[in-house]
Formats: sequence, structure tokens, C-alpha cells
Amino acid sequence: MGEFELIRRFFAGADIARDGEGVVLGIGDDAAILRLPADEDLLVSVDTLVAGVHFPHAMSARDIGHRALAVNLSDLAAMGARPLWFTLALTLPSADADWLAGFCAGLAALARESGIALVGGDTTRGPLSITVQVHGAAPRGAALRRDGARAGEDLWVSGWPGLAALGLRAMQQGSAAPAEALAAFLAPRPRLALGTGLRGLASAAIDVSDGLLADAGHIAERSGVHLALEAAALPLAPALGAALGEAEARALCLGGGDDYELCFTAPPAHAESIRRLARRLALACTRIGRVEAGSGVSCAGAGMLRAGYQHFGEG
Ligand code: ADP
Ligand code: MG
Repeated sequence: MGEFELIRRFFAGADIARDGEGVVLGIGDDAAILRLPADEDLLVSVDTLVAGVHFPHAMSARDIGHRALAVNLSDLAAMGARPLWFTLALTLPSADADWLAGFCAGLAALARESGIALVGGDTTRGPLSITVQVHGAAPRGAALRRDGARAGEDLWVSGWPGLAALGLRAMQQGSAAPAEALAAFLAPRPRLALGTGLRGLASAAIDVSDGLLADAGHIAERSGVHLALEAAALPLAPALGAALGEAEARALCLGGGDDYELCFTAPPAHAESIRRLARRLALACTRIGRVEAGSGVSCAGAGMLRAGYQHFGEG
């Protein structure tokens, strides 16, 4: 199978490449032509997944397809953006039709569900690596950012951070793990509806990819504030506590990565609206601390704190 046949068979002719909002011209030309409503801002983000670094070599093609798009959609969710278009740069060791079919199935299912269309890409031979660039939109000036947190506000997190890290640990050790932990790692759900729902409610937001403490630290830094977490307020999934005991569960909740939940700040006056939004989405949202004057993050009652994963540096 040559490059052009591969593109035609798996991408250009596929469902995910059809019927995108604002797609004037999709796959097949030298560039896509895309049209944004005049009253919206364009939000762009790109992420690369390298086999053995960002996912275990043993992960199925379908899960890799889901993950490559999910981690990118999570960045749009954190900004309160509506997903529109994505491009896919794929480096493959060989043109394995079975692998490609699985990869595309995972990619297409999440793309359909999220309303995002594939509009172009690049296909090359080499060690397995997947780069996705996503494009989204938000009403002008309404996107969520990291720099809007102010002293006196509440700090929140969605979902059950730490579950994904428990799932990854089990996969690496070949040990058993609760189904919800494996699902959290293998098939993270980008919190898109939460992100758009938080426009006008949250003052700052970030998605939790490197760990709750590390990512909260980015809001603290960009906003010029201190984030004071409370260990007793952390949402500990029952499965996490049962598998690890309370202290270790708390450590994973604070330091484990790969959850793709949203961490955000909001004025106390918006707490009731946030709880209503969370109920409507059937998604846990927990107030885990406060924004204070100062810098950095702390967690009262958690003992020694560890930072999240970094590719370069001390980690
Ligand atoms: P060019 O040489 O002009 O860069 P390519 O031969 O790389 O064009 O790609 C031909 C067309 O197929 C382009 O429209 C490109 O966007 C699209 N394409 C290539 N690879 C992929 C892919 N993996 N997914 C989606 N579209 C792709
Ligand atoms: Mg090219």
C-alpha cells in the first residue's frame, strides 16, 4: 500500500473527513480552506504522542487513535473552545492495514462524538509517532485562560484525579486494576461540555495532564497568585482508596498524570451555578481549595509534595 492509497483508504474517504462546519475545502489539496464565524476567536493547539514515551508500546491501535485526539481536545476543553477541525501528522514504521483500521476507528468515534472534522495531514515512514493539531472556536474574548485567577476565589477540579495514574501503573506492572482506572488511562474523556459551560463562570482553567499540583502550579504562576489546596477536600475515587490506602491515594490524586480533568478557579458567587452545571453534565466537580495572594501551590494536610512529569529537567 503506497502513501496515496493509504491516505485515500483510511483518511480522505473516511467519515471523519466529511461535513465539517466551516470546511470550505478539506483533504486533497495542498492546504485546507477553513472559515470561522466573524464574531469568534480561533484557538489552536498541537500535541505529539511518541510510542514508549506517551503511551505504552502494548497499547491497542484503537486506544492510541482515541488518545491522540483526546489529549488535544482536552486542551480545547480547558480553553472553553468548541472543537471544529484537526490535522493529523502520522509517522508509521509500516503500512499495516489492521493497525490503521483500529487507529482510525478510535480516532473517528471520538471525532464524531466531539463534532470535529479531519481536514488534512501528513504521512511519513519512521518510528511510530502521532501529531494532532486541533482548531476550535470561542466567542470573541470569552476563551478561558490560565492568567485570570484572583485572590478570594475558589479552586475546583472535575472528576477523580489519580485514577488514570493507577490504571497506567497496573498496565506497567502487569497487575490487576479496577476497570474504571484502566478506562481513565486508556480512554480519557475530554471535558468539552464542562469547558464551554464554564465560560463566564470560571476565571482561569487548565487541563490536568501532568498532575493536579503541577498543573495548578501553572495557573498560580500565570495568574500571580497562591493556590491553597486542602487535602481533606480532594475527591478520592473509592477505587483509588481501596487499591492504595488513603495516603497513597491522595499522593496519586495530587501527583498522578493523564487524567485530563479540568482544574479551574471561580468567584464564590458562581459556586451554585458550577454545581448546577456539574449536575447537568453528570460530572463530579469538587471545590478543593482557595486562591490567595502570593505564589506557588500548597496542600494543607498532605505532607511532602511531589511535582508532575516533565520531559526535560528534574521532573
Ligand atoms: P503535499 O505533498 O502537498 O504536502 P501530501 O501528499 O502530504 O501533500 O498529502 C496529500 C493530501 O492528503 C493533503 O491534502 C494532506 O492534507 C492529506 N493528508 C496526508 N496525510 C494525511 C493524514 N494522515 N490524514 C489526513 N490527511 C492527510
Ligand atoms: Mg505533505
